[in-house]
Amino acid sequence: MGWLSYSSDLGYLVAAALFIVGLKYLGSPRTAPRGNQLGAIGMLIAVVVTLLRMSGAEGGLIGLPLILIGLVVGGAIGAFMAKKVEMTGMPEMVGLFNGFGGGASALVALAEIVRARDAFGAGRAEGLGPTVFVLAIGASSLIGWVTLTGSLVAVLKLNGTMRKNIFLPGQNLLKAVLLLACIACTVGLIYTPGNLLLITALVLAAAMLGVLFVIPIGGADMPVVVSFLNSLSGCAASATGFVVGNNALIISGALVGAAGLILTGIMCKAMNRKFADVVFKAYGATGSTDTGEKRTVQGYEAEEAALAFDGARTVIIVPGYGMAVSQAQHVVRELADELERRGSEVRFAIHPVAGRMPGHMNVLLAEANVPYEQLFELDDINSSFSECDVALVVGANDTVNPAAHTDPDGPLGGMPVLDVEKARTVMIVKRSLSPGYAGVDNDLFYRPSTMMLFGDGKKKLTDLLGAVKEL
Ligand code: NDP
Repeated sequence: MGWLSYSSDLGYLVAAALFIVGLKYLGSPRTAPRGNQLGAIGMLIAVVVTLLRMSGAEGGLIGLPLILIGLVVGGAIGAFMAKKVEMTGMPEMVGLFNGFGGGASALVALAEIVRARDAFGAGRAEGLGPTVFVLAIGASSLIGWVTLTGSLVAVLKLNGTMRKNIFLPGQNLLKAVLLLACIACTVGLIYTPGNLLLITALVLAAAMLGVLFVIPIGGADMPVVVSFLNSLSGCAASATGFVVGNNALIISGALVGAAGLILTGIMCKAMNRKFADVVFKAYGATGSTDTGEKRTVQGYEAEEAALAFDGARTVIIVPGYGMAVSQAQHVVRELADELERRGSEVRFAIHPVAGRMPGHMNVLLAEANVPYEQLFELDDINSSFSECDVALVVGANDTVNPAAHTDPDGPLGGMPVLDVEKARTVMIVKRSLSPGYAGVDNDLFYRPSTMMLFGDGKKKLTDLLGAVKEL
């Protein structure tokens, strides 16, 4: 069956090339949809080639019909979830899929390690010696289970089910012990292949490690964790690629792992944090700084607020998670167009962790056809707020919270924020005075230059747009 092996290698090469070119296209919002399509085509090729290989000489643990049933059932569930998910539920879905990716890799490793009981040394990965084979299985299990349980905790944190960040005394020590236990079990498996006790201990230790890794982290550090888990899911897949001897899995997993690591680095930079500090210091565990102190502010009606735009030369719009919740992106664009028509220069300030997933605001604004030229990243626009007439904050909170500067030890301490308070007028659209994701009270709401417009983002902006048109 030499031709089968030859053509499957060729198929994997084409798939890998498509992944790499697709990633390159993902570098810009303009070309990202094409990048996505290329990646999907690459994955389709890899899946078809793998199925052909399995139906050919190489065989497998289970028959082709069972695999096809799995593909149909899994594909249908995935398609249903993707169709049904609300835009605001996307971060949880991405988190869940990260976890499932890690879980799938870990399960494949488990199947192989159990199989190794009967045929140790006959590892499917061509050229891998028994030791390297078991090491690959250990890596895949460790990373896979950590990714699964860590991602499940992250999903609970993202959807608000788990609000508390738990950091117990000795938690870092316990994590180190669990990691060492996983390594010890893997080494043990080299000498006693398929030892069920060691396998069970490895799975339990790795699963616990995943939970302990994520439970102390929360608030503003969640983006770092989510992107790191994404990277881990790729690393687990790559390790599994070595276990089952599949080059496409090794390459695609490595690409996801590397891309996720780069994103983790970007997120750390955006939060002004060292990765080790996020993981071991657990800033989020310092908890909410919402004092519960009841301060009140007067809300403004749209008609009164609209007057601030009269004669405004520069307006900077700051979108946040609340814009996604209220689906206000289209009316935001209409308002921006109307203000430009009236002679204002309108720009959008995008904080790197605004919303609940990387690029969340860019996706929403692209959906509303806001030109890319109007979008500015934090570093490029922050100095402009001091010359800005109106900063219009739509459902953003943590990303504009001055507590990041004034409370260095708080959950937001040290995080770069958009300096909206430097604008002549700050207009904030949200439903109440409640804090943002990190649970930190926001002093901005009470400042003299701030106008609070209380209400659902879309409704309030529609009123504001009507009032601006009446000016
Ligand atoms: P925040 O989560 O800080 O605040 C969002 C605000 O939107 C809330 O205060 C809420 O106030 C308001 N809001 C909710 N619903 C509506 C609505 N229907 N209409 C109007 N306003 C509404 O958002 P930011 O974008 O500023 O910050 C993102 C936070 O999420 C950061 O802490 C970040 O670390 C974290 N995070 C980011 C991730 C990422 O990858 N981007 C991933 C995970 C977490 P009210 O209830 O009063 O209306």
